[in-house]
Amino acid sequence: MASITTRTTCPYCGVGCGVLATPQADGSVSIAGDPDHPANFGRLCSKGSALGETLSLDGRLLYPEIDGVRASWDQALDRVAGTFRQTIDEFGPDAVAIFGSGQLLTEDYYVANKLMKGFIGSGNMDTNSRLCMASSVAGHKRAFGSDTVPGNYEDLELADLIVLVGSNLGWCHPVLYQRIVKAKAERPDMRVVLIDPRRTVTADIADLHLAVQSDGDSALFVGLLAHLARNGMTAPDFIADHTSGYNAALLVAEDWPVERVAEAAGVPAKAVEILYDWFGRTEKVVTVYSQGVNQSSSGTDKVNAIINCHLATGRIGRPGMGPFSVTGQPNAMGGREVGGLANMLAAHMDFTPEAIDRVGRFWGSSTVASGPGLKAVDMFAAIARGEIKAVWIMATNPVDSMPEADAVRAALAACPFVVVSDMSARTDTGVTAHVRLPAAGWGEKDGTVTNSERRISRQRPFLALPGEARPDWWIIKEVAQRMGFGAAFSYDGPAQIFAEHVALSAFENEGSRSLDLGGLDGADYATLPPTQWPVRRKPTARMFGDGHFSTPDGKARFVPVLPPPPFAPPPGRFMLNTGRVRDHWHTMTRTGKTARLSAHYAEPFVELHPADAERLNIRRATLVRLNNRHGSAVVRALVTDRQRRGHLFVPMHWTDQFASNGRIDALVTAKVDPVSSQPALKMAEVHAEPVDTRLYGFFVSANRPVLDAGYWAIAEAIGGIRGELAWFEEPTDLATWLRTAFDLPDTATVETVRDARSGRSSFAVIEDGRLVVALYTAPDPVLVSRQWAADLLEADDLGAVAVLAGRPGADMPDSGAIVCSCFSVGINTIAAAITQQGCSTVEAVGACTKAGTNCGSCRAEIRGIINARGLQAAE
Ligand code: SF4
Repeated sequence: MASITTRTTCPYCGVGCGVLATPQADGSVSIAGDPDHPANFGRLCSKGSALGETLSLDGRLLYPEIDGVRASWDQALDRVAGTFRQTIDEFGPDAVAIFGSGQLLTEDYYVANKLMKGFIGSGNMDTNSRLCMASSVAGHKRAFGSDTVPGNYEDLELADLIVLVGSNLGWCHPVLYQRIVKAKAERPDMRVVLIDPRRTVTADIADLHLAVQSDGDSALFVGLLAHLARNGMTAPDFIADHTSGYNAALLVAEDWPVERVAEAAGVPAKAVEILYDWFGRTEKVVTVYSQGVNQSSSGTDKVNAIINCHLATGRIGRPGMGPFSVTGQPNAMGGREVGGLANMLAAHMDFTPEAIDRVGRFWGSSTVASGPGLKAVDMFAAIARGEIKAVWIMATNPVDSMPEADAVRAALAACPFVVVSDMSARTDTGVTAHVRLPAAGWGEKDGTVTNSERRISRQRPFLALPGEARPDWWIIKEVAQRMGFGAAFSYDGPAQIFAEHVALSAFENEGSRSLDLGGLDGADYATLPPTQWPVRRKPTARMFGDGHFSTPDGKARFVPVLPPPPFAPPPGRFMLNTGRVRDHWHTMTRTGKTARLSAHYAEPFVELHPADAERLNIRRATLVRLNNRHGSAVVRALVTDRQRRGHLFVPMHWTDQFASNGRIDALVTAKVDPVSSQPALKMAEVHAEPVDTRLYGFFVSANRPVLDAGYWAIAEAIGGIRGELAWFEEPTDLATWLRTAFDLPDTATVETVRDARSGRSSFAVIEDGRLVVALYTAPDPVLVSRQWAADLLEADDLGAVAVLAGRPGADMPDSGAIVCSCFSVGINTIAAAITQQGCSTVEAVGACTKAGTNCGSCRAEIRGIINARGLQAAE
């Protein structure tokens, strides 16, 4: 039977790449980029390319559960509806809440929002998008009168200057990064400026990198406004005709000359001058900003400081120019469109009396919420205080991703009623749930998502629903009907919900709201092509190019911005920054299932500057304890001068499912931006110290162990599991520990060698020539090649000697640590291409090894390896 290919959309980042998914006869699914999708034109990054490897049912929640026991859907839905109804009757509608996610499809989001704000009558529906881009939403609304992204991806290729602010595009939005790389190669005059405390891989394409201190970017843009005015680089006619508030904003900015800006930003004045000169003289400028701007206690002001500069120059909504917020999540934009944020009602309408009346008439409800609900941080604080007594968490993992995550866990543990809808059986949040509902996953779900450039794309199913999993919209409407709201929730599928969303966006709109999808009324949902909104009023790829904005007077508003005072941790403390790595997504419930994506970084780590490491006596690859009054974490030291002195970086991904103590958001203070209520996830104050470690270990095993050690971190390997270990006290009998941890039968033989001089030991259990488990221990970090050891899991006819040796023999070469995840190319393979085959460019290495030839996210690392080899040769 011929394979059928489905056009769908990647479920990870906000680029929103089109994907072609083709189920194969053997049950696998082949994945390719959709060449016709305008977001990616066929490209995919490492995460997108590996989507087919995340679809196994291993770890899936397949049946409803009540109090940890399998239940029928009727029992579970009745329990949720009944408890919510009872709680509302007893304590009022604000005693319940929904916490959603940018992973939900627009249709799921729409039904959840309608239930909470339209019929339960509370504003208590917020989402993890609050953690992601709420400051961009607030900044857009202050400046434009609506949450509208003016530009599109093509502008990144048309720009002569791209300013990347707080954005590691190379890892977090890799396909956009590759579009810029290609454009820059074709137009050598194109310039890129990176503003980021870290020298990330994105610096590889930067002509100028300003390694600002935390929140130093605010002063840069405030000073830029003054510089533009001082040097006659503004657009006076545009300012006069299409904006208001310019003089007030400039008055504040004039106090920020270059020297003061440089000091506040922590960068050389010369670098500030270059940025200002390039920005002032270049007409086609796009300023791209992401979580480095948003996840700050002054994030909204930063957004407006950036927008101010584009308004002052009239560079907005025209080809190759404009401020551009790139969203983190696949459907953060769709959630914003339906009203998934607690301060929005629906379809980009706020809680004004007119909007409440309009939406109430449209939905046929007299109980529409009268005002905003609690935003994420306040919502979990209200749960902790016992004011919210029933909460429904959908497709997100707040026990790991919220600031002060330990307090969030404690709040949920004490909450009288917690419902979790998720596709994963094992999550840190799911542990706290009274009712767990199995939700459909990517490949099973049917609906739409909106990407960072306002493009609505279809996520289409190509797999049957497994077990008793159901789509989120179905689960929510079933609960709504059981709560007595049946008529308003009689949906038969996502097409009907989407049609209602379209109709609401156009309802009594007449051009008064920029979100007007009326042009999609009657569109064929099944075949809907990727479509940018607005549709009815003026189908356009760009907004505001005509100088007309969504404010009552049609003018954009400047916002006076005063940079925040420099924030430096007290002596002995570090500024902790959190963020993403290249190959993992959020809390790893999907990317953690693939060996390929788990190979690049297989455990939680902290990047710290060599001078800081030396001062604290922290050696490379040893363990570091980070702590503050909120919590602690133990992570691997990654000593690098990519990091500023006094600053640390730890990825956000690791949970209790993958590491003993890697939940970094437990250490982040729940301090929020005063306008957007977005938490400052990149600015925690922490103490760092080396961990007194007696013994380090590394293992590979065919089966998942239960580990009892001071430190552990596990990752998927092909054919099994790999893991890091450490003991903080001398273990007594490792052979016995091994038997217990890996549940070995009494008949299993544990082969052992020990080098008394070095203190290193190796343990191997082999059955019928196949490896069951190999463990290597040493007083220092274990030097065994991880990739070679992981490859042992696939080897046949293994002998104990080969495993116990702890290093590759001639018959089993070691490809080294994985650099290119797309093609699993290791550092040793790349090094050999350079030294033995004379490859001296990234392209040549790619031609020899395929490394860097798919998504290209590893090209900067390959260039670094080439440069290092060149230096070695010169020495
Ligand atoms: S850039 Fe990667 S993660 Fe983002 S949508 Fe595209 S394929 Fe998915």
